[in-house]
Amino acid sequence: MKVLVLGAGFGGLELTTRLSEELGDDVEVTLIDKGEGFVFGFSKLDVMFGRTVADAVVHPYRDLVKPGVRFVQATITSIDPDARRVQTDAGEFSGDVMVVALGADLHPDATPGLVEGGHEFYTVPGAFALREVLADFPGGRVIVGVTSTPFKCPPAPSETALMLHDFLTERGLRDQSEIALVMPLGVPIPPSPAASAALLEAFEERDIDWRPECLVRSLDPVRKVALCADGREMPYDLFLGVPAHRVPAVVADSGMCVDGWIPVDPLTLRTRFDGVYAVGDVTSVGTPKAGVFAEGQASVVADAIIAAHAPHEATSTYDGRGQCYLEFGQDQVAKVEVTFLSGQAPFGTFESASTELSAQKGEFGSTRVRRWFGREWSTH
Ligand SMILES: Cc1cc2nc3c(=O)[nH]c(=O)nc-3n(C[C@H](O)[C@H](O)[C@H](O)COP(=O)(O)OP(=O)(O)OC[C@H]3O[C@@H](n4cnc5c(N)ncnc54)[C@H](O)[C@@H]3O)c2cc1C
Repeated sequence: MKVLVLGAGFGGLELTTRLSEELGDDVEVTLIDKGEGFVFGFSKLDVMFGRTVADAVVHPYRDLVKPGVRFVQATITSIDPDARRVQTDAGEFSGDVMVVALGADLHPDATPGLVEGGHEFYTVPGAFALREVLADFPGGRVIVGVTSTPFKCPPAPSETALMLHDFLTERGLRDQSEIALVMPLGVPIPPSPAASAALLEAFEERDIDWRPECLVRSLDPVRKVALCADGREMPYDLFLGVPAHRVPAVVADSGMCVDGWIPVDPLTLRTRFDGVYAVGDVTSVGTPKAGVFAEGQASVVADAIIAAHAPHEATSTYDGRGQCYLEFGQDQVAKVEVTFLSGQAPFGTFESASTELSAQKGEFGSTRVRRWFGREWSTH
């Protein structure tokens, strides 16, 4: 069996690791990504706030040596889902099964004024470049603002505001600074009322100005004001934005999307194309766009491929579960576990911030790097 996996992010790495662990050389897996290496989303914040350096958080794909898996560094230029075939700048590839795990692309240029008058912290280059900008920041009015929905890792803007508070406090700049957090949501993490309450309390304690149910539509780089969807103007000295998200252009052009994202069966991750699955941020499966959900979906697809190879009936279906670690600053991390099932309200649990959970978050990262890349890694 030939399996073609498009994208070596959270979803693609988990899927190929499972296939290699369980089928080894019995299947021929081709994993394609245009990047040099993988970076965890949370590592972007660590680099930006000077907690680590860029070189320490890039996991090079050249370290990916797994039985049955061939990694190809190439840009995919077209996808034919009927034929399960792609064109790339390194030639043509096809499979008996194809899994699309190409994530969401980010478009700072979709928000007028953001590129000229602000910064974004969601791309790897954007977050890494902010390290110098923040190191030189003399204090002032800072806005952490979301510019469109949906957006990856909904807790990340809240974590950024809390980490920024610590960063400015440690440099003696907090008294002369203001932090505002502009979010399209009514509460910081709608599926978890307990996590939202803890975050709102933390914002209050740290004098972070929480602005719910609002999107930043544009920036005026000359006047240095952010223009919000409700018509308000907010002056700023430093704007840290979450840019617009879209499927990669090659996915949009493939004819697989409906309303901008790839629809899938929420239990099996199958698309409407025979032998084609999609996992993670590129889909409209109904879970938040976060790595843990991409990973859980990849595992279900791995089970289906393994069952087809054996052959036996695949028993696993996607359970919509994911856990998320929340940075509260001062080396305190909280944990949210949420389950998203179609037709039901999401439900879950919340564990308050502690240093034990901070260590657990570190372990979350190092176990992935061990399994996916076969090497040891620690977050700090
Ligand atoms: C600041 C921040 C913090 C975050 N924190 C967390 C967290 O704590 N926990 C969590 O679970 N999630 C977190 N996330 C979200 C998480 O990073 C993503 O949701 C996750 O990576 C999605 O996985 P994926 O496999 O769908 O896509 P991705 O991991 O984005 O992988 C997609 C891959 O496809 C490749 N690709 C795209 N187009 C092409 C092309 N044309 N040709 C070849 N390759 C291509 C890309 O290079 C990329 O490697 C965070 C995100 C951010 C921005």
